[in-house]
Amino acid sequence: MAKTIQAIRGMNDILPNQTPAWQYVEGILRQLAAAYTYQEIRMPVVESTELFKRSIGEVTDIVEKEMYTFDDRNGDSLTLRPEGTAVCVRAGNEHGLLYNQTQRLWYMGPMFRHERPQKGRYRQFHQFGLEAFGMEGPDIDAEVILFSARLLNELGLGQHVELQLNSLASNEARAAYRAALREFLRSHEEALDEDSKRRLDTNVLRVLDSKSPQTQALLVNAPKLSDYWDDASRAHFSGLTQRLDHAGVRYVLNERLVRGLDYYNRTVFEWVTTDLGAQGTVLAGGRYDGLVEQLGGKPTAAVGFAMGMERIVLLLEALEQLPAAASLDLYVLGADEQAELMALSVAEQIRDMAPWLSVQNHSGSQALKKKLQKADKSGAERALVIFADEQGLRFELKHLRERELAAVEFNDINQLTSYL
Ligand code: ATP
Ligand code: MG
Repeated sequence: MAKTIQAIRGMNDILPNQTPAWQYVEGILRQLAAAYTYQEIRMPVVESTELFKRSIGEVTDIVEKEMYTFDDRNGDSLTLRPEGTAVCVRAGNEHGLLYNQTQRLWYMGPMFRHERPQKGRYRQFHQFGLEAFGMEGPDIDAEVILFSARLLNELGLGQHVELQLNSLASNEARAAYRAALREFLRSHEEALDEDSKRRLDTNVLRVLDSKSPQTQALLVNAPKLSDYWDDASRAHFSGLTQRLDHAGVRYVLNERLVRGLDYYNRTVFEWVTTDLGAQGTVLAGGRYDGLVEQLGGKPTAAVGFAMGMERIVLLLEALEQLPAAASLDLYVLGADEQAELMALSVAEQIRDMAPWLSVQNHSGSQALKKKLQKADKSGAERALVIFADEQGLRFELKHLRERELAAVEFNDINQLTSYL
């Protein structure tokens, strides 16, 4: 036998028994996006490497070690997209969607990062993302967060997630804070973990979300970002929290929330759960007012988020919050060879008159008893057995689940729906 070929590690098939959960989540996403008047954008999965280097930042986990980068046959460096925001901005700039107007956009699709595969962390994973362009007030930050809150509530996850919020303030405020934090950490360098030592010079804010307990202990006495907030950012943040308060959305301030991508300013937020182990962030986002210009467009305010769909599906499974699988309504079979000839056209007639029914045809020629066993195994609620003789067709509708109920017989297929 030939050796079987397997999928790439960390890149998963989503099997037929899993797709109903995905379709359920996708259905809610689409319906909510429409209700909030966000429009879908579909983007390529491969982009020039430069796009991600320039947007996400050279000294980030993603660009340093997670990107799938390769040379195209003509020598161009290409990268499988590790996230959607930069791509969305590239597309918006390229097609003139962003200049001097507002846009509310969403996307959904696969992203690629070369990480160590584990529960909730894969090399091909899927994100749903929302991006709002051209609006700078805190009202749009609040709208985007309210969308995410409603989404998690509709999925039945509201009680299992917590909203964490912070402001990264202006670039100038952050630069001043970075200097202060660096100075503080330098004076305790010997106590820092290796990663954090390395980040001192390159990306010191990332030290704030170091996983090392020793580093975290040290940070208790570190300077606080909020002490460096500029007045405009402080007012913006307070505008946001007031709106969240009015809308009844609860949040916790997390001064150490900085996010792993360089383009954020002002608002950053994450929805976090404790029900998924280490991969607890199910949805994350923030404001990125500088990115459009950084990628060659005109200065444009922007805010958005991305949700990890695998983590949402995992959480729904863990909490048993998935709706029951759809059942099969009707299994159609011909009783003998003569009736078998008619079975497909009868099924077509049923689909014409009752498009809402799920109808499965029996396939293959077997004894009636075998066919009925198959019908039972299919999980169908009922079997429609077709008999053909000189007088024409005759139908028997059998209950497969509630067996104590008697079968019904009739001659006109149009009567079927009155017995269902
Ligand atoms: P993490 O800290 O878990 O690595 P991140 O900060 O790298 O997350 P983002 O780039 O903000 O993640 O992506 C948004 C969301 O996409 C995450 O909150 C998570 O739900 C999901 N996500 C990110 N990376 C992965 C992955 N490798 N596998 C599955 N989901 C992921
Ligand atoms: Mg990551």
